[in-house]
Order: sequence, then structure tokens, then C-alpha cells
Amino acid sequence: MDDILLKNYIKDIDNITCDYLVVGSGAGGSVAAYELSKKKKDVVLIEEGNHYPINFFKGSIAKSFQNAWRYSGVTPIIGKPSFGFGEGMCLGGGTYVNGGLIWRTPDIILDEWEKKLNTDIYNKSNLNPFFSKIEEKLNVKLEKDENNYNKDSELLNNLAKKNNIKCVTVPRAVINCKRHNKCTTGCVSEAKQSTLQSYIYPAANSGLRILTKARAEKIILQNKNPYKLKVKINNKNIYIKFNKIILACGPIQTPLLIKKSFGNSCLKSKMQVHLNLRFNIIFKEKLNSNFGTIFTRQITEYLSKGILFCSANFDKSYLFSGLNSIDKYKVNELLEKMDYLATYVMQVRASSEVKINNFYSHPLLIYSLNDYDFNNIKKYLFLFSKFLFDIGAKKIYMPFNNNYLAENLDDVKKVMGKIKKSDIDAVSVHGMSSARMASNNKNKDFFDVNGKSFLHDNLFCVDSSILPTNTIESPQGTIMAFAHSIMDRLIK
Ligand SMILES: Cc1cc2nc3c(=O)[nH]c(=O)nc-3n(C[C@H](O)[C@H](O)[C@H](O)COP(=O)(O)OP(=O)(O)OC[C@H]3O[C@@H](n4cnc5c(N)ncnc54)[C@H](O)[C@@H]3O)c2cc1C
Repeated sequence: MDDILLKNYIKDIDNITCDYLVVGSGAGGSVAAYELSKKKKDVVLIEEGNHYPINFFKGSIAKSFQNAWRYSGVTPIIGKPSFGFGEGMCLGGGTYVNGGLIWRTPDIILDEWEKKLNTDIYNKSNLNPFFSKIEEKLNVKLEKDENNYNKDSELLNNLAKKNNIKCVTVPRAVINCKRHNKCTTGCVSEAKQSTLQSYIYPAANSGLRILTKARAEKIILQNKNPYKLKVKINNKNIYIKFNKIILACGPIQTPLLIKKSFGNSCLKSKMQVHLNLRFNIIFKEKLNSNFGTIFTRQITEYLSKGILFCSANFDKSYLFSGLNSIDKYKVNELLEKMDYLATYVMQVRASSEVKINNFYSHPLLIYSLNDYDFNNIKKYLFLFSKFLFDIGAKKIYMPFNNNYLAENLDDVKKVMGKIKKSDIDAVSVHGMSSARMASNNKNKDFFDVNGKSFLHDNLFCVDSSILPTNTIESPQGTIMAFAHSIMDRLIK
């Protein structure tokens, strides 16, 4: 297959110099590369992963995990509980493998940040023009109600009506989604609008120079100022000289690169996450959940408590990856009942933070769930189990390591009294705020409110690391709006 970026790849890798060097090509890095290229700046984008057209993996989850995700799909986080973190590692970063849900930042979060940062740069009226631009470029539309697809989301809507709670239609970046339910492999039908198609390809048309399969290893100083980047490409070290460097390696790799470059003590890197707890459910009625898109409805009634509820991409492989402690009789029952199954997710804005340590140049990630989060999780697990039994759940595999099976609310009550923090079976694909911006560097924060390093005038960051806290809703829209806002001031 011809690679449409062939003309943009840098051929002579030994003497690269540029005015702006963007490191990482996900939600944040794509915006930086696009805005700079559009203004005809001399810009180079480097990316550790490879370039794959959006339908490259033809729906193969195994091939996508192996090639387009970091550590073949799971970055381990160790603690109570231990859980897996998922990150894209390819051109387009997380936006290549994600669900394409593009939310504006909730008002309560923007109000919290305005006070915390002591500036109105990121208030609603200042960010809204950037959100409008992003929504236009990514073709973000509210999902439609359908007759035969997304019955799992429809059930959620019925549940909300019955209980008089708030349930909204979700905004997604897709053109003609064919409901293959394989968002995490890129997108089989090329419907999903990742930043690869909507930002990087247009930037390439404006002359962006690109290096893929190139890992940034260390920022090197001259006269105390960053001036070149050590990069590993094909097992060889090269150096790229720049005037300004813009970091966008994602919430784990950006703080790691900072620590590797300037020492471990220069940054208190604690990442905030959203935890996803999965309910795998056998319903009384047929749902055919694999005919659908990621989801079309979300319960937002408990948003101020940091809790969201929705269905999820459903596929045999996704189901069994979340159910690893069940015996062969239960496996057989699930295989027979596949059309009656659905997976729902409770997303939690956790206040407990992941510690990011630099362990011989690799991230060592440690977690300890606090009592507040634990009690919140138990409270809402119980509430949603009740709702699910009310709308026709026959059996619920609860999100605990032993895949506890509840057949009624008494079973749920029993297990709630017994579970420990380490029993919780969670995953996360939303990490952020690990090199958070701050109004001053009294607390050893690294970046100011313009995404500029407090230590170096030519070092910036535009990815999820700089967000002041976690966002409750999925973060891509917020990350991109912040990146646009920062680039606007940087270019001016
Ligand atoms: C399965 C999944 C589903 C998701 N669904 C949604 C969703 O529907 N909506 C939403 O809003 N969010 C979603 N997210 C989260 C969202 O995709 C991320 O929050 C977002 O992409 C993070 O943006 P970023 O710019 O910080 O980093 P990333 O998008 O992760 O980009 C970082 C890039 O930098 C590269 N990189 C890292 N280190 C180096 C290095 N040393 N040298 C060179 N390159 C490097 C990486 O390979 C990567 O491509 C999902 C994530 C996943 C994994």
C-alpha cells in the first residue's frame, strides 16, 4: 500500500534542524503540528509509533494491539487495585484507537480550574471557539436513535426515563459510522475521524516534516537551555536541533521524558485517571450488542459526583478479556447467550493518583485507591446493579477479580460487604494531569498556564499531562481545546 505521507518523511536523519519540534502525535501533538504547519513555520513532528491508515487492521483486535498500542495494549499499574492502562502508540496516538467521543469540558470542571489557575484563559467563553473549531474539523455530531442498533444504549435511555434521571445523547467524531463496533482497531469503515485524518494529513499537505518510529530519549541543554533532542531511531541515536520544543508524548511518557532530561526531583508526577468498571450482563431479551457503535447514550445524573454510566464496545474478544476467572461451563453459557449479552461501564473520576516513577528509564506506576473513592465506587456499583436488574438483567458479572456472578440484588449486597480494594477489576484509558499547569511554581509544578516550562522559555507542553485535574467526561476534546489555546498564544 502506498504511504500518502512518503513525501513528508525526513530522508537525511543525521542533520535535522528545525524551528519547532513537536514530540508525539496524539490529541495534543496533532493540534500543535497542524497550527504551526498552517502558518508555514519550520516544524518537525516525531512519533515513536508507525503510520497506519485508519482501516489498516481491518478490525483485527490482536493486530491492532500488537502494533498500534503501547506494550501490546496494556501498561501495567501496580497497587491496590492493580489495573491496566491503555494507550495508542502510532501516528494519531490515542485518537487512532479511541471511541471518537468528543465532549466539551463540563462547566463544573472549568469553574474549578478557573479558581485553581487564577486565570480566565480556559473559561467557557474563551474555550468555546476552540471547541467549535474542533467539532467542525472532526465532524462531531450527536448520535442518532436507531431501530435495530445500539439496543444496549436504548435500554439505558429507558432506565433513565423510568427513574427520572439525566441521560444524554453522545457527541462523536464519525462520518457514516457502519456500526462495526471495532473503534479500538482504528476503524474498519474509515468512519471515525481521528486527528490522523483531520489534523496530520492536512498539516502534511502544508509541508510538515515527519519522523515515525522515532523515540525521544532526552532533551539536551546548552548554556542551561534546551537546544537538541536525543532520538532513538532503528536502534541508532540521532540528535535534532530546535529553537522551541513542544512535548505531547501523553500522560505517562511526557513526565518520564522530563524526568530523564532534568532529573527525577524536578517534577512531582502524579497522574489522575478515570477508572472504568465493567458490568458484563446476560439479559432476558435479545440485544445483539455487537451490532452497534461504542454507545449512543450516557447517564450523566451523577456527573457532579464524578460518576458516569454507559454501555461499551461489545465483541467476543472484549468480553472475554474482561472475564478471566470463569470456569468452562460459564464460558459455554456465555458463548450460547452471546446475543443476550451487553457490557456496561461505570466511569469514575478518581481522586486517588497514580505515582509515575522513572525506573531505569521505564515508567514504574504505583496506585493506592483511597477510602473516599472506594466508598463512592461501592455506592454506585450497588445503585447501577439495582437499575440493571430493574431493566431485565438476569445475571451480572460484577467488576471484581473473581468475576463475581450476581443473580439478584441480595447477591450484590452480600459481595459489597466483603470486597477489598485489591478485588476491584478496573481498567483505564484516560490518564491526565501528570505534569499539570499551575499559576506559579511554588509546589514544584513544571508548566505555567501557557503550557510553558517555568524553567525554560523554549519548552512547552500541549498534551493531557498539563490539564489541571481529571475531566469527568472523556478528555480528547478538552486536550485539543487546551492545545489550540496554547498554540494560539505561542504562535502570536
Ligand atoms: C481505547 C481508548 C479509548 C478512548 N476513548 C476516548 C474517547 O472516546 N473520547 C475521548 O475523549 N478520549 C478517549 N480516550 C482517551 C484519549 O484518546 C486520550 O486521552 C488522548 O489521546 C491523550 O492525548 P495526548 O496527546 O495526551 O496523548 P496521546 O494521544 O496518547 O499521544 C501521545 C503520542 O506520543 C507518542 N510518544 C510517547 N512517547 C514518545 C517518545 N518518547 N517519543 C516520540 N513519541 C512518543 C505516543 O506513541 C503517542 O502516539 C481513549 C483512549 C483509549 C486508549
